[in-house]
Amino acid sequence: MSIRPILIHPDPRLKTVADPVSDITGELQRLAEDMLATMYDAPGIGLAAPQVGVLTRLIVMDCAKDVGTRPRPFAMFNPEVVWKSDERNIHEEGCLSVPETYAEVTRPSEVVVRWTDPAGDQKEEKFSGLWATCVQHEIDHLDGILFIDYLKPLKRQLITRKMQKIKRDRARA
Ligand SMILES: [Zn+2]
Repeated sequence: MSIRPILIHPDPRLKTVADPVSDITGELQRLAEDMLATMYDAPGIGLAAPQVGVLTRLIVMDCAKDVGTRPRPFAMFNPEVVWKSDERNIHEEGCLSVPETYAEVTRPSEVVVRWTDPAGDQKEEKFSGLWATCVQHEIDHLDGILFIDYLKPLKRQLITRKMQKIKRDRARA
């Protein structure tokens, strides 16, 4: 397993619709392992393949982050929301590709997601609370959507400028 560098917004790869997976190769299984390692290392609760520069429909997540909670890692190929609740939830979101920035986003409070796991098995599960927010945020990444796209244009521009500065500072360091 290796830790992969995470792309920082703005980057055209974060705005691209990722390709579906037809065959889960050993290479893709290794990518899923690397992404989980990268996510835990960051640390974060979710990561999508475009964030490490791979334009493939793969996300990983683990929202069991409280002390004393056992890890519950997911790696999902071709994840799809097949049902969402009418009830909505406001959650403060952040993103490893938009560091040091948090904002409230409204999303369905519960979703049912269908995906293929690294062994090639079809899975379906209902998520609520933080898990529902996280899985929707990660699936958005596969469609080139960032959580800041839900904010007002002015706020988004300010955040983008802040990110450009962070990238410049990191490139210089
Ligand atoms: Zn994100």
